[in-house]
Order: sequence, then C-alpha cells, then structure tokens
Amino acid sequence: MLTDSFGRVATDLRVSLTDRCSLRCSYCMPADGLDWLPGPALLTDGEVTRLISVAVRRLGITEVRFTGGEPLLRRGLPGLVAATAALDPRPEISLTTNGIGLARLAGPLQAAGLDRLNVSLDTLSRETFVTLARRDRLPDVLAGLTAAAAAGLAPVKVNAVLLRGTNDHEAPALLRFCLDRGYQLRFIEQMPLDAQHGWRRADMVTADEILASLSAEFTLTADDPGLRGSAPAERFLVDGGPAHVGVIGSVTRPFCGSCDRVRLTADGQIRNCLFATAETDLRTPLRASALPRADAVARPLPGGGDGDGAAPEGGQVTGSTIPDSCSLPAPCQPPIADMGRAGCRNPGSLIP
Ligand code: SAM
Ligand code: SF4
Repeated sequence: MLTDSFGRVATDLRVSLTDRCSLRCSYCMPADGLDWLPGPALLTDGEVTRLISVAVRRLGITEVRFTGGEPLLRRGLPGLVAATAALDPRPEISLTTNGIGLARLAGPLQAAGLDRLNVSLDTLSRETFVTLARRDRLPDVLAGLTAAAAAGLAPVKVNAVLLRGTNDHEAPALLRFCLDRGYQLRFIEQMPLDAQHGWRRADMVTADEILASLSAEFTLTADDPGLRGSAPAERFLVDGGPAHVGVIGSVTRPFCGSCDRVRLTADGQIRNCLFATAETDLRTPLRASALPRADAVARPLPGGGDGDGAAPEGGQVTGSTIPDSCSLPAPCQPPIADMGRAGCRNPGSLIP
C-alpha cells in the first residue's frame, strides 16, 4: 500500500501523458505555452504501462486516470488504456480531457476499456472560449462531448472553472446545458496552479459564490456528506434530484485530509500532491533496470509473473537466480532481468 506520513492511503493514480496541450487556458498555461519536455524525457508507452502495472498489482492502486497536459495528444493513448484494462486486478480507468479530438477517439477509447471521462468545459460562448482558452475550439469540445455520450462513456462528467469577469455569470447556463444532456457537472475553484503565477485569491470565484449563483435558478440540497468519501466534490441535488451538481472548493473548502491521489508526471516523477515542491524520480531507476525491454511489459515472464517484474500472486518468482550480493550492471540481461526483479536486491533495479 502507498501510505504517507499522515496515514493517508493512495489508491488513485493520476498519470500525466504529456505536458503539451491544444489549448492555453489562462488559469493553467501562459499564452506562449511552456518549455515543453524534450521527447526522450517522456516515459515511453511501455514505461508508463510498466509503472501502472507495478502500482496496480503491488501497491494497491485501484483507479488510474490519464491526464496531462492534454492526454488525447498522446498517440498511444488507446493502447495505454488497453494495457491498463488487461491488468489483474483490473483498475477503474478514467480520463480527463479538454475534448478536442474526442469526436474521433471516444469510440476507440471505449473499446479499449475506458470506463469514464471528464471533459473540461468552462463556457458555452464561442467568444468567451477564445478569451479563456486562447483558441477557437468550442465546437470541437462540444462535438467531443456528444461523441463520448454516444460511445457509451456515460455518465459524462464536465469540469468547469469560473473566472471573475469572464465566465462567472455562466454557472446556471452550464448546469442547464449539462442537465439537458445527462452530463454531470462539477465546478472547480480556481487554484494557484498557473505557470505564470497570475492567481489572486480575491479574484477567485469561491464555492459559496458558485452556489449562490446556481441557487438563483435552481433549488440545491446538500447530498449526504457521508456519501462523499474521498471525492473532492461536495454534491448537491438539483431541484430535488436525481440530477446533482458538484462543487470542488479546493481553496476555500480543502479536502487534503481525505485525499487518496498520487501523481505520475509525463517524465516519470511521482508527486503526492498537486502542490508538492518535491518529486521522486522513477524514470532513472526504471531506465537503469529495464531499458531493453521497457516496451515488452505484456510479455509473460519465465518465472510466471505477468510482465511488471512483480512476483506472481502469493510470493516468489520461481527459478530466480539473483544472488544476495548482486549489483547488476544496468541494464541487466533477460531472462535473469525478467525473473530477478521481484527478488532483486539491487535497489536501482527495483521499481519503485
Ligand atoms: N487538458 C485536460 C483538461 O483540461 O481537462 C487535462 C488536464 S487539466 C490540467 C485537468 C483539469 O484541471 C481540468 O478540468 C482543468 O480545468 C483543471 N485545471 C487546470 N488548471 C486549474 C486551476 N488553476 N484551477 C483549477 N482547476 C484547474
Ligand atoms: Fe490545456 Fe487542460 Fe491546461 Fe486547459 S486546463 S491549458 S486544456 S492542460
């Protein structure tokens, strides 16, 4: 299990597949983008799958969410979903996306095993979308939403961030849009995550303000807080239900105590909080131990494991010949590399 020093247990792995994006939302990225990670710094599809496999099979991760940047820009996404869906135990698989390209990919992703997805939609106005996301792509997002529902990825969830003076008047319209289509809407308070450090607390539209704005047009009833669990959203029944709306008060109503998430960055760093200042590098030990076979994670192991280097259920990899004193040169050679990781004493070759 992944337990931190506060006793919180992480069961939800957020996997960022790229730092790049097709939009430039002002609350997230500068207009000119970021200094993108160079290609070789990114984990390969095989490396991503291998780390997910270890997390699911050995560390108690039960949900894997693909995110970014914009995860639909990652060409291998359907394959990553399929490889994750093939794990035993099979985790829940979800995706957070801006929806651009989803019209084409919703079907293949559903077929690959995607269970759920969240699409970000902050406005219904094309003009406001351009102001907010600095790209004229609202029609693509709406087409993506429609395609997701048609592909059976229901209930489609929608994430919205409100910015004062830009789209803060749109809360009721966004909720009406989602209710009419059976989408589940959640508002997220704007967090100080923008690379350009432009966030000001006084400018943030608070959860209280969002609820007041919605209450002008809908009757909201707080859902049983006991049902919330580790979910960040406070849920409210709309006009008596069964439809509901969520509000994530990340800043004014923090839920850190019940957080069950851990994050893997696109370049193979583990972060246990969105606001973490420190990371743990998994890419270096991963590459030191496994570069020659990183893309062969689904290959059956000679010792009976299933490809992440973990022992089969219940214990040891049969036939391991790795001695106690081993200090493997990196990379080590198959089949010893395959058989050895579960019992390997070389910390540099054990992931994690
Ligand atoms: N590009 C994808 C998308 O927009 O859905 C996935 C990555 S994006 C970082 C994930 C979610 O974080 C989106 O719903 C986005 O609205 C939200 N987000 C980004 N920056 C935020 C901020 N400063 N405060 C609150 N939410 C933010
Ligand atoms: Fe891109 Fe998502 Fe950030 Fe918007 S919120 S710039 S869509 S990564």
